[in-house]
Amino acid sequence: MDNAQEPEFARSNGERFIDGGERIYDLGDEILVVCPKCSGMAKVILSGDLPAKPTGDLFAPRRLICTKCWYRNNWAGRKVTIGEAVDWFFGMPLWLTDSCCGEVLWAYNLRHLEMIEGYVAAKLRERTKGGRNSFLCKLPKWLQSAKNRDEIMRSIRRLKEKLNAGN
Ligand SMILES: [Zn+2]
Repeated sequence: MDNAQEPEFARSNGERFIDGGERIYDLGDEILVVCPKCSGMAKVILSGDLPAKPTGDLFAPRRLICTKCWYRNNWAGRKVTIGEAVDWFFGMPLWLTDSCCGEVLWAYNLRHLEMIEGYVAAKLRERTKGGRNSFLCKLPKWLQSAKNRDEIMRSIRRLKEKLNAGN
């Protein structure tokens, strides 16, 4: 039987989004939120020194620090909310949210936003489904839909501008 067809994975044109199998848990060491006091940009980070790599310790104590009014709050507990447009610990609304395609596009931080961007940008070209168990495979359908691509990319640009403005 003649089977000259190349396997699926060999068809990459170099613009394939490489899914490194990132888990959503790897994104939580810095979460940008709306300050409950002044509505400026606040950060939810680990208490103490920030490690260079994700700790993976979900229940390590956190603190919320506003970059504008310097409001602070501390968190220590055993209950977290993951997968919604709020930070995992304090439940504050995320800083990076935008109306998009009748839904809400949200990201915990710049790294998260750029991963979504890379995924959305590459998806149309190849429809690669090589991801393993990364959160990117579990993105909602509207984010995976090719017809929404342009609007999503505009939304991501807006969020990057908002991030640069920082207030
Ligand atoms: Zn504030």
